[in-house]
Amino acid sequence: MWPGSLRLPRNGAHKVRQDWHEQFAESPDVLRSSRLRQTVVRVLDVEIGGGGFVTMAGPCSVETEFQVMATANHVRRAGARILRGGAFKPRSSPYSFQGHGLEGLKMLAHARQETGLAIVTEVMSEDDVPLVAEYADILQIGSRNMENYALLEAAARSGRPILLKRGMVATIADLLRSAQVVLDNGNPNVILCERGIRTFETALRNTFDVAAIALIKQVSHLPIIADPSHAAGASELVPALARIAVAAGADGIIVEVHPKPEEAWSDGEQSLDFDAFDAMMESLEPYLALRGPALHERQLARRGVALRPRQAAGVHALEAVG
Ligand code: PEP
Ligand code: MN
Repeated sequence: MWPGSLRLPRNGAHKVRQDWHEQFAESPDVLRSSRLRQTVVRVLDVEIGGGGFVTMAGPCSVETEFQVMATANHVRRAGARILRGGAFKPRSSPYSFQGHGLEGLKMLAHARQETGLAIVTEVMSEDDVPLVAEYADILQIGSRNMENYALLEAAARSGRPILLKRGMVATIADLLRSAQVVLDNGNPNVILCERGIRTFETALRNTFDVAAIALIKQVSHLPIIADPSHAAGASELVPALARIAVAAGADGIIVEVHPKPEEAWSDGEQSLDFDAFDAMMESLEPYLALRGPALHERQLARRGVALRPRQAAGVHALEAVG
């Protein structure tokens, strides 16, 4: 075994604990079993759940052509594989910016054409599914819609992979049940997302339930990623939560990035600027190295960085602390 490995279960536990089986009994096809091995979701040339670590990054909302293109180019160079950005925005206030709709989708498609990044974007209503599916590579179901079964069914039937975000007050069983609805509608390509939940704690926007990631890696064959941006609500904390997600075994992260967060039309306070994004990506490296040399090398190659002995030394420093 790779020295200093986090000893994450490579493909989850071979057996799911009996009490978890009972607790998640309503989502039988989501649970790992001898019949159901790890799901790998393939989008363009990206694999999610195949043992690699995938970074999805981009603005909260699609604002302007310049904002999308500048962000797409930057995050691609820093190692992201998928561009995020909302064209249809669920907002807490009905008076806030609701997204550019079709114009936003077109900007995202243009960014894909220019950068080769795959696109993930939210679909909020069943009526919009055909339109969003025409432009997006992955359909995002937002937290506020996790239990909107009509939307889940329509999105599932589009045939596009689904990024299913955990509802703000949803239990892990609720999340897995919604994933089961997508599978029941003939779509096996579900990526789960832990994005923080509401608890009695109010210091942060949400409480990052990192144990949910570790648990889901054990019980489910579906990939799970983390959204440190919505979990933290504050850009200063996003890199730390991203590192925790790597250590917990997440298959990737989805992060909000903006050229000028202070001017963002939504979620500027939790968006990273380009320098902060680069620093975060670099800071993930020793944690990725703990997950295995192959994963680390792949990540570095994507960023155009050659593996240096110093990085291996970083692994041992972490091992001593951990
Ligand atoms: C988003 O990712 O843009 C978003 C609105 O997130 P959530 O649904 O998790 O609140
Ligand atoms: Mn947002």
